Amino acid sequence: MKVLVVNCGSSSLKYQVIDSESEEVLAKGLCERIGIDGRLVYQKTGADKETTEAAMPTHKQAIQMVLDAIANPNTGCIASLKEIGAVGHRVVHGGEKFADSVVLTEEVLKAVEDCNDLAPLHNPANLIGIRACKELMPDVPMVGVFDTAFHQTMPERAYIYGLPYEYYEKYKVRRYGFHGTSHSFVSKQVAKTEGRQDLKTIVCHLGNGASICAVNAGKSVDTSMGLTPLEGLIMGTRSGDIDPSIMEFIAKKENLDIAGVMNVLNKRSGVEGISGVSSDFRDLEAAAESGNERALLAIEAFSYRVAKYVGAYTAAMNGVDVIAFTAGIGENTAIVRRQVLSYLGYLGITMDEAANAKRGEDYFTISTPDSKVKVVVVATNEELAICRETVALVR
Ligand code: ADP
Repeated sequence: MKVLVVNCGSSSLKYQVIDSESEEVLAKGLCERIGIDGRLVYQKTGADKETTEAAMPTHKQAIQMVLDAIANPNTGCIASLKEIGAVGHRVVHGGEKFADSVVLTEEVLKAVEDCNDLAPLHNPANLIGIRACKELMPDVPMVGVFDTAFHQTMPERAYIYGLPYEYYEKYKVRRYGFHGTSHSFVSKQVAKTEGRQDLKTIVCHLGNGASICAVNAGKSVDTSMGLTPLEGLIMGTRSGDIDPSIMEFIAKKENLDIAGVMNVLNKRSGVEGISGVSSDFRDLEAAAESGNERALLAIEAFSYRVAKYVGAYTAAMNGVDVIAFTAGIGENTAIVRRQVLSYLGYLGITMDEAANAKRGEDYFTISTPDSKVKVVVVATNEELAICRETVALVR
């Protein structure tokens, strides 16, 4: 079966067409600036990228352009849209309602809508994309895959905040966690490759957004993001954990309202805020190498926070067998992995320097054979994970 995987944001939409049998990507691309002016990027695997500037006032028009591109008689990756057997949609927040992926019926869409409050920037955009796809492909089954679903196995002691309990009862204020599709995919890859289902694994998803997950025997037992993706690690532009009182302090000093403070915490903080250089680790590494001390500080603070979470999650699981690094930084930035592991000697971890310098493999070990904890680098693939979930449900 061929599966269209869609990740719809408020003004952009990423897509892939995947052959579920061979798990090959047939084509991928994105629509940008939906509702502004509009640009479609389409790349058939093995061919050059094509960019078309075209008005796409609505998401429906954007999706129509994607469908036209993938089924184009000359450059398309499929002969006809009839080949698309299912569409898998990324949905950011499933609240407590969704502990698994689900076929998107009208009733389910209403339940997703009920979670909009929890992710006001993301869920409405996801829903617009789903509705547009349903209109254009009314006979094709659609599946929703939630960023939060994998973490629904967390015990109450891990997801409850130290707040009045009534906020949980009335408003469902609790830890949900995100990147669940990636944490699930990577921990499964580890279990499969290491040939053990009972592993205690700590997955470090280090991308522009970053989170850590403690996975015990395949189940998420704790994770660093919270009610929203702002909690936890220091990220590209997000602060991660801070003393909540800083918000009032900064609001007064900088004369900001709550929205202004939230904007600072989401968009002007993290490694970009610390360094004043960039949120991109390639820029930070280059700046640090040429002697920029704040860029070096940003990398060090980032790695130190990761190491502290690894320590916390080792305690949460009373041990750890495998630490897995994934996503843009986890897969590519050797200096971060080296710095993180430099704090973890007490766990009996020793790193293989030459292995840590490797790149471009989907799965490799960077600890030495006698290390007490195995440390691996695993390429995440959220689109493939969505494709697998989609096929499993529509079959
Ligand atoms: P997201 O999906 O959250 O946007 P990614 O997983 O793509 O994030 O990760 C983005 C981060 O990964 C950026 O900080 C970028 O610098 C870093 N990154 C990506 N590729 C490389 C690379 N080849 N070398 C170093 N860092 C990289």
